[in-house]
Amino acid sequence: MLKNNNQNPQEQKPKEKIRPAKPQQNRRPAKQQPRQTAAKQEQGAARAKKPQPKRKNENQQPRQTAKAPVANTKAKRSAPLRIIPLGGLNEIGKNMYLYECSNDMFIVDCGLAFPDDDMLGVDLVIPDFTYVVKNKDKLRGIVLTHGHEDHIGGLAYLLKKVNVPVYGTRLTLGLVEGKLREHGILNQCTLKVIQPRQTVKMGCMCVEFIRVNHSIPDACAFAIHTPAGVVIHTGDFKVDYTPIEGGIIDLARFGELGNKGVLALLSESTNAERPGYTMSERRVGATFRNFFANAEGKRIIVATFSSNIHRIQQIIDSAAIHGRKVAVSGRSMINVLQTAIDLNYIRVPKGMLVDIDKIGKIPPEELVIVTTGSQGEPMSALSRMASNEHRQVTITPQDLIIISANPIPGNEKLVGRVVNELMKAGANVIYEAMYDVHVSGHACQDELKMMISLTRPKFFIPIHGEYKHMFKHKELALQLNIPEENIFIADNGNVLETDGVDMKLSGQVTAGRVLIDGLGVGDVGSVVLRDRKHLAQDGLIIVVAAINKATGKIMSGPDIVSRGFVYVRESEELMDESRALMLSVMEKNLTPNIREWGTLKNLMKDALGSFIFSKTRRSPMILPIIMEL
Ligand SMILES: [Zn+2]
Ligand SMILES: [Zn+2]
Repeated sequence: MLKNNNQNPQEQKPKEKIRPAKPQQNRRPAKQQPRQTAAKQEQGAARAKKPQPKRKNENQQPRQTAKAPVANTKAKRSAPLRIIPLGGLNEIGKNMYLYECSNDMFIVDCGLAFPDDDMLGVDLVIPDFTYVVKNKDKLRGIVLTHGHEDHIGGLAYLLKKVNVPVYGTRLTLGLVEGKLREHGILNQCTLKVIQPRQTVKMGCMCVEFIRVNHSIPDACAFAIHTPAGVVIHTGDFKVDYTPIEGGIIDLARFGELGNKGVLALLSESTNAERPGYTMSERRVGATFRNFFANAEGKRIIVATFSSNIHRIQQIIDSAAIHGRKVAVSGRSMINVLQTAIDLNYIRVPKGMLVDIDKIGKIPPEELVIVTTGSQGEPMSALSRMASNEHRQVTITPQDLIIISANPIPGNEKLVGRVVNELMKAGANVIYEAMYDVHVSGHACQDELKMMISLTRPKFFIPIHGEYKHMFKHKELALQLNIPEENIFIADNGNVLETDGVDMKLSGQVTAGRVLIDGLGVGDVGSVVLRDRKHLAQDGLIIVVAAINKATGKIMSGPDIVSRGFVYVRESEELMDESRALMLSVMEKNLTPNIREWGTLKNLMKDALGSFIFSKTRRSPMILPIIMEL
């Protein structure tokens, strides 16, 4: 099923120069495949008469050669290209894709994900870099599609392990710069600004940047020119004919590439379940102006993604119409906004921005607060406002709060909690998607189909989504007559290999989640997580004793200390019995010159564990600490 049936598509063709990837094959329904030879011949002849497309640059299709006269039964195959997703498949977050050919390799994006509910105390999740580090001699560089966290958030951690040039558009690299500075590695990193339609060489491959629309300016897709053919990697995109900033997605270039022949398309799947088109970001502007017009006498608070620069621009524009000042709350929001202002991606009238510390001096009806927390993130500014823990903002019935983002699947509960609290404080909260308050940054079904139709790839690989999103995306591709055996729903770590003729799943490399806890990378393993869960559920009991090593006599203790174990305060008796039990276990097992503390500790743990469980039906974590004197 993983193999393409057309193994000999160029058999018996005239010996002209031919292209390895032939888009025409794809549009034949799968059922015609067994009898393709005749059709192939026709196509081959037709192509032979056609003039070769002009080469825009030397790197396109670098290995086009005359068909070898030998091996007549074999189609023209090239050095294999390996496409390896290291993150971003079967999840929303931590996008990272590897392209490898001969002795060269480069990376597309290096993002982060936010932890699941059960990852206690974990701040961030990044991809596993093992395979990259192992092959770092081959690594030529990193290209970035755009500046969202799920595409650049893991970069600083990667650059600490492999120092290679990073290529991206101006705003993307502006945002990266801030991160590298925070990590103290900006000076040792090489960042190179690339314009759309420019190309970066990565050994035997090269990467062409193509403008797309998205919820952040300066987003790009890539056309990756390899010996095996052209691969298009969309990054996040949508089609917006009236973008707030920057140009329209470069549909012409996608079409051009499609005409010349695209070997494979990797396309994002976030909104593959949604029919139709994503509305233009401009629609949001009208909605904002409406709400602002009807908010007389009220302070307005708008929560949105910190990275949605277009949205922030429209909030600023609406505020300007109504003569309101704008204050910004939330560290990530302030960072992104500052970068965008510095690089001229956002226009703010002079004197309009006020420091959040100084909002007390401005009448509520003349103020707009833009804040993070649209996903209900517990530590975000909006959540702190909701729980009345925000330093500068107290919610009152004088507030109109607009949550201008749809909850990412899984965040609905968190958002609901925040909305409830804000409403309890008397605020008027607008949060439903039906108000057009949010327009997605991702392509819906019609746009996804447009991308497939324009590029007409031989192979199709849905990326950037959970399984259900990728599956839906596959259905769309099937509707457009991409044969099922040419569509690959892969997983992180899968190696997809193509020689320009076939594509197959050829192996597996290390891929997974690395958990980041504060500044530590990867020091939180499954054991630590299990312990944290255990502690969170049942608490901790510590048994402390001091022992004279030479005599094996107990010098002090055992004392029982507990944290988070509910039964302690009520039950003096339970603790006394525990102490007595520990004393007897120790006395029984202590000998002069004892060395095997591990055995004794385990005996203490087991005895106390089953005793506590028999009394309370709880299993707190038990930690014996023995001090040798
Ligand atoms: Zn994005
Ligand atoms: Zn993304």
